[in-house]
Amino acid sequence: MPDDLYGEILLDHNRYPRNFGALESPTVHVEGKNPLCGDELALDLVFDGDSLKEIRFKGQGCAIAMASTSMMTEMLKGKSAQEIREWIERFKNFMRDGGALPDDADMGDLEALSGISKLPVRVKCALLAWTTMEEGLKQLAKK
Ligand code: ZN
Repeated sequence: MPDDLYGEILLDHNRYPRNFGALESPTVHVEGKNPLCGDELALDLVFDGDSLKEIRFKGQGCAIAMASTSMMTEMLKGKSAQEIREWIERFKNFMRDGGALPDDADMGDLEALSGISKLPVRVKCALLAWTTMEEGLKQLAKK
């Protein structure tokens, strides 16, 4: 995918964030912060057994943090807790490995974040959604 298309995808997720908002009675409500940039995030998760049935987010922060969250909600909706864990690891590796695409999975719009991996300060912005989701799974496990 060319860089300008990546830019387009980021812009689109910022302009029209997917699954934005809150849920009435979430199974898990979890919040995350990236003090380095000032990004703030709240996730509402509804699990049906082991499966993530609904996900919504609210937050404010930079374009990268918000786009990464929007993309994450699209990717994880409908997935099982185990699949979500695998996606969290996959995304962390994607950011660590200089944005190298894993060959075992279609990254979808997340591919547009590959350039971010080269900007260490922004990596924290892109990871916020995923570390917050990780915390959400911990809360789920305690229920
Ligand atoms: Zn940020």
